[in-house]
Amino acid sequence: MGLLEGRYAVVTGAASARGLGKATARLFAEHGATVAILDLDAAAAEAAAADLGPTHVGLACNVVDKAACAAAVDSLMSRWGRIDILVANAGITQPLKVMDITPQDYDAVTDVSLRGTLYMSQAVIPHMRQNKAGSIITMSSVSAQRGGGIFGGPHYSAAKAGVLGLTKAMARELAPDGVRVNAVCPGFIDTDITGGKLTEDMLNTVLSGIPMGRAGAAIDVAGCCLFLASDLSAYCTGTEVDVNGGSLI
Ligand code: NAD
Repeated sequence: MGLLEGRYAVVTGAASARGLGKATARLFAEHGATVAILDLDAAAAEAAAADLGPTHVGLACNVVDKAACAAAVDSLMSRWGRIDILVANAGITQPLKVMDITPQDYDAVTDVSLRGTLYMSQAVIPHMRQNKAGSIITMSSVSAQRGGGIFGGPHYSAAKAGVLGLTKAMARELAPDGVRVNAVCPGFIDTDITGGKLTEDMLNTVLSGIPMGRAGAAIDVAGCCLFLASDLSAYCTGTEVDVNGGSLI
């Protein structure tokens, strides 16, 4: 029996074929969950959901738009009647130096990770509270913990650090209601955000900073999300779980 049998899960930013969201949605479905994939493009979200099987749902939702987040959750509630799990995964990055960040860059990067996590959480929390149960998983980054990385500029680190603060504050507030909130902090994971963008020299430099000596795979992050979504983590809230091959040792 799967760890998420009978659960209903929403994963944002999950249409990208090689992305962390899609791998997480797939693993959740394999463990018995019914999954909604939310992403910018309706056709891409629907195709990604169909790829998981006929019971899953794909919806267009720009997580920066509070009304769109609420509408997507309303639509899922009328189909399912409950939402047990949210993975607030959508995020974008820009490899900029501090002096090159424009106000538009700042807004774009901060809005998707931070505003999007807040708005999606606000949309699901009333339903989770009503059930006295729920697991919200946010997507931070090693860039928040050590101040930057090769792909994210300082505004990305700041947004992902904001996600950690938001996660802990929500965890504290929602614990009495039975709702758990935890953050995942991936290190260097091979997805479209990172894949194929490094010269061999740059790749060797990155790998030399990872004690395990390899990039992570999307399934490494998905497995961590499965743990946090399931009852295996019933006593975990407000945590940040590192999935980084030992990068912070
Ligand atoms: P990805 O680019 O493969 O996927 C991101 C998805 O988010 C895409 O499908 C994109 O369409 C969607 N998206 C972007 N803006 C959106 C919006 N406004 N509303 C809804 N969807 C939107 O990225 P990934 O590598 O799978 O990263 C997933 C998450 O993990 C991101 O938050 C990223 O910052 C974080 N992360 C990734 C790595 C890594 O090494 N890949 C490391 C640390 C953290």
